[in-house]
Amino acid sequence: MCGVVGIIGNDEAANHAYLALHALQHRGQESAGIVSTNGYDFHEKRGMGLVHSVFPDKSALARLTGHAAIGHARYSTAGNSCESNIQPLLAKCQRGKIAIAHNGNLINAQFLREKLETRGSIFSTTTDTEVILHLIAGSRAESFSEALLEALGQIKGAFSLVILTADALYAVRDPQGFRPLVIGRFENSWTVASEACAFDLLGVPFLRKVEPGEVVKLSAEGLESIQFAEPNPQHCIFELVYFSRPDSEVFDRSVLLSREKLGRNLAREHPVTADVVVPIPDSGVAAATGYSLESGIPLRMGIIRNHYTGRTFIEPEQRIRDFGIRLKLNAVRSVLSGKRVVLIDDSIVRGTTSGKVVRMVKAAGATEVHMRITCPPTISPCYYGIDTPRAAELIAANQGVEAIRESIGADSLAYLSLQGLCQGAGQQKEEFCLSCFTGKHPLLHQIQKPG
Ligand code: 5GP
Ligand code: MG
Repeated sequence: MCGVVGIIGNDEAANHAYLALHALQHRGQESAGIVSTNGYDFHEKRGMGLVHSVFPDKSALARLTGHAAIGHARYSTAGNSCESNIQPLLAKCQRGKIAIAHNGNLINAQFLREKLETRGSIFSTTTDTEVILHLIAGSRAESFSEALLEALGQIKGAFSLVILTADALYAVRDPQGFRPLVIGRFENSWTVASEACAFDLLGVPFLRKVEPGEVVKLSAEGLESIQFAEPNPQHCIFELVYFSRPDSEVFDRSVLLSREKLGRNLAREHPVTADVVVPIPDSGVAAATGYSLESGIPLRMGIIRNHYTGRTFIEPEQRIRDFGIRLKLNAVRSVLSGKRVVLIDDSIVRGTTSGKVVRMVKAAGATEVHMRITCPPTISPCYYGIDTPRAAELIAANQGVEAIRESIGADSLAYLSLQGLCQGAGQQKEEFCLSCFTGKHPLLHQIQKPG
């Protein structure tokens, strides 16, 4: 997963990109970077870690001059977590310099890469994103826009992109619209971001989303739109369940209100006699509000999160993740002691967090712990940009609900149904990618096998 931002027509473009990356930090914490241009020169700065550690002071940003910039906060889903893979990627080719930042995952990157390599391309990263640069650079089309369209015709999968050239900023969304991408406008400057919460921080009014299958070119000439493919919406429902920030609107819905609805549906589907509803913070908070409102059981913050440590699960190593949970969450004995607790979380992926939290809540004196999850069992990995692990590590891919209940040590465990999820998310089932819950993966049948 990742967050992307692009700004053009603003002399403070890099500063705005930096601030926007703060608002998008939840989408990726492994690395961050910004590339800016004044129409001639390009400047770049990238590094491992959180945005504030990559740009520790003003001097780190001061070099990034120009009226246009793109930025990226990364959470590796394709390619390793290492320096050479930090985005935005910047390349020089016969068309001049091109910078690109990508949220999503290409599903045919390996095929394209091998094809390009046989023709002599030399790749300098292991990301799927670099394939797009090579396709653009290798195109014989006359204009950059045509070369871009040619490249987009070849890539498949999830891609919300921002691309910076000397004279324009391009925003691109794949025909399925797996990942969000929105446009804001303030006077003569344009801002593009993964989520609108970035606009709120910058005081930029929301204009509209980039449509599935659309390229938006932003330049001195204003906004130009090209529909490069028929839209075929397959929005990632996990953006609404977990990934996006609750104060964003994603796929035309309020993330917070959607989560509350999921919680309400969960209370209707899986009621329980209990004394308190307790969210696992932060991801379970909005849904727990909904569960409490619907059930009439009071909501209490029985678990407190330490906000000064990073998000768990993001670090690729198991060893660090387990440590992170203890570092991050703590139970409030005065709220939990002697109580029957409904514990609400958005999802169970590996089952490690859930098991630890249940034990923690019991150790704090809860007499019963009823775990309720606001999505169906996660049975299948994601090929479109969410960093869910391989099926072997997905607890629900290998065990039934009763076995999971036992393994996490809860007195009862229930998941929201697929129907309850889609109804709460407020769109037709057909418009969502539900593959992590169904195992039916859009586009996968189209993947070309290399060689
Ligand atoms: P588990 O019990 O599977 O170890 O962890 C479940 C927790 O992981 C939930 O609280 C959920 O919010 C979080 N989670 C689910 N999917 C993701 C993800 O893709 N990235 C991160 N960082 N956390 C996730
Ligand atoms: Mg969580």
